[in-house]
Amino acid sequence: MARNLFPCVIGGEKIFSPDGRTFRDINPADTGEVVAEFPQLSREDAAKAIDAAREAQVKWASTPAPERGRILVKAAQILEDEADELARVLTREEGKTLAESRAEVARAVSIFRFYGVMGYRLRGEFTPSAEPNTHLFTLREPLGVVSIITPWNFPIAIPSWKIAPALISGNAVVFKPASYTPLIGYRIVDALHRAGLPPGVLNFVTGPGSTVGAELINSPKVDAISFTGSLEVGEEIKRAAGGRNIRIQLELGGKNPAVILDDADMDRAVEMVVRGAFGLTGQACTATSRAIVLENVAEEFERKLVERVKRIKVGNGLAEGVEMGPVVGEKEMNKILDYIRVGIDEGAKLVLGGKRLMGPEHSKGYFLEPTIFTDVTPDMRIAQEEIFGPVLAVMRAHSFDEAVELANKIEYGLSASIFTRSLPRAFEFINRVQAGVVKVNKPTTGLEPHVPFGGFKKSSYGMVKEQGEAALDFYTKIKTVYLGY
Ligand code: NDP
Repeated sequence: MARNLFPCVIGGEKIFSPDGRTFRDINPADTGEVVAEFPQLSREDAAKAIDAAREAQVKWASTPAPERGRILVKAAQILEDEADELARVLTREEGKTLAESRAEVARAVSIFRFYGVMGYRLRGEFTPSAEPNTHLFTLREPLGVVSIITPWNFPIAIPSWKIAPALISGNAVVFKPASYTPLIGYRIVDALHRAGLPPGVLNFVTGPGSTVGAELINSPKVDAISFTGSLEVGEEIKRAAGGRNIRIQLELGGKNPAVILDDADMDRAVEMVVRGAFGLTGQACTATSRAIVLENVAEEFERKLVERVKRIKVGNGLAEGVEMGPVVGEKEMNKILDYIRVGIDEGAKLVLGGKRLMGPEHSKGYFLEPTIFTDVTPDMRIAQEEIFGPVLAVMRAHSFDEAVELANKIEYGLSASIFTRSLPRAFEFINRVQAGVVKVNKPTTGLEPHVPFGGFKKSSYGMVKEQGEAALDFYTKIKTVYLGY
């Protein structure tokens, strides 16, 4: 057995693929490095994980919620104690810089702490009854077995913000990480078991979305599905599970605007747009992919933007001073390069970047130049479609109203920013922009774990938000009790 082969976990047991099949977890900054190997499970193996979850769920649901919370808080401590090493794992398998990985691991720690404490606050509602001698109140009950399917771009934060509220609510979970980033997912599962999570309550299955993932969305034994990823797979989940009367929560893409008004602190606006567009190599669903700038300050903004982006050091995320890591895989890199060609063909002006980096520091990985297009018009594909890479489209508007109209003229509605010193303008933007997250003088990226997160329009599906107390509304069902005495 190779030294870096890791198991799946089903019913508390470490499981390898019965036929020995594995897949490799590769470092995108140095494709010669195999970070880990994981079992390529079959659909039948995934079905066993669902059975194990079903068996463990009843006892878990009857465990007092504060006791469930104690385990989550302990897991948070384990993750915090190992944060430095976890951050290195994250950078090696996903590519983001060490600073970005550290921030993401810290977020996962906060998420487990927050939901751990929520074990004391899984509240229902107590309300006066219109009848005499009657107590009228609500209780929260778990749903049962939840399938959790996550992407590679926030491979510790996203699983954490789904698994923690699912567990604290008394559900059992089958978790499938993205095949690019199974190791950091395994470490969450490992931390929870070391913290005392009973066997079967959280099951970890690896393998292709088309088989392992398919079982998680098609099995009639699953009571809810929480998914973050592409629109295409989101649509497939709706088709597969939409008719089964189960809870479905889908967090899909974004095409997030940053609006720069003429009274903005221009240096701050540039810095925040750069962070939103090129931080995390642009591979964030909340990444800034459109900068919409008022015409009378557009030249200044574009000049300062290009000057700043030219200074971004691209390289291996483990190296000192690197601000932007590689793209996660070859397929993703080629998709981004295709979009750059589309932008040129559509007549946008490529003012910076546009190519793969191939020097001695870069030839072993999937490194791209940070790329800026100006003269982008709203009907262009690079202004409408999610690129999910380090590509920023700059558009000009003649007025505040036109800027808001451009910001809203897309199918997505995840995150949006405005840069201004005017409080009335900021509030008008907050009121009019069609996005689930609005930022003022801040980048479109960056979320706090204790407030709701989710998009409008095509960005999300399911009425209930993720994160914060709002997440508990997805993972529990409400029972109303009329108690006469
Ligand atoms: P995918 O939708 O391809 O994959 C997401 C997850 O779904 C992975 O675990 C994948 O497994 C699994 N999967 C793939 N096919 C199926 C299937 N047929 N049935 C069940 N599960 C399946 O997206 P990416 O991981 O490539 O992520 C990039 C996309 O995700 C971007 O478009 C981005 O917009 C979106 N995204 C949205 C976020 C949000 O919060 N709104 C956050 C992050 C990303 P496997 O890896 O094995 O293929």
